[in-house]
Amino acid sequence: MKKFKKRHPLYYYFKNIADGIISTYSGMKLTFSYIFKKPETIEYPEQPILIPDGYRGVHTLDKTKCIVCKSCQRACPTSCITIESNGVGKNADLTKFEVDYTKCLFCGLCSEVCVLQVVKLSPTPPVVVTDKKDITISLL
Ligand code: SF4
Ligand code: SF4
Repeated sequence: MKKFKKRHPLYYYFKNIADGIISTYSGMKLTFSYIFKKPETIEYPEQPILIPDGYRGVHTLDKTKCIVCKSCQRACPTSCITIESNGVGKNADLTKFEVDYTKCLFCGLCSEVCVLQVVKLSPTPPVVVTDKKDITISLL
């Protein structure tokens, strides 16, 4: 076990001052190194953002081809898809197809299970809203 060496109180006094100077210098050095660099942040949504390949954004739906099989709704792990229709199959009349983006994980499972590939995740980022109720979007 390491033995604690007791020192003169003045030693700790000056050591604290030295530690303060060193840590302030380290912090300011880092701060100044960023002052003249291009900012990493952007003013989204006013400024456009670069969308990488494979990005999963808000859904698109080809409602004319949807057969209302509801596979997407069943596959959704957070139950954020709501579908209502008059009938099922090719001639079904879709009356509601909504996604609640407060719950959506953008996992893409809904799109993967859709045999006709009519629901997809587009490269458009989620919309910005100020009221929670506005984030449930109808795809019709
Ligand atoms: S992306 Fe995932 S969480 Fe969002 S609606 Fe599709 S299955 Fe549900
Ligand atoms: S899985 Fe495809 S075809 Fe079936 S309800 Fe969903 S979007 Fe429509």
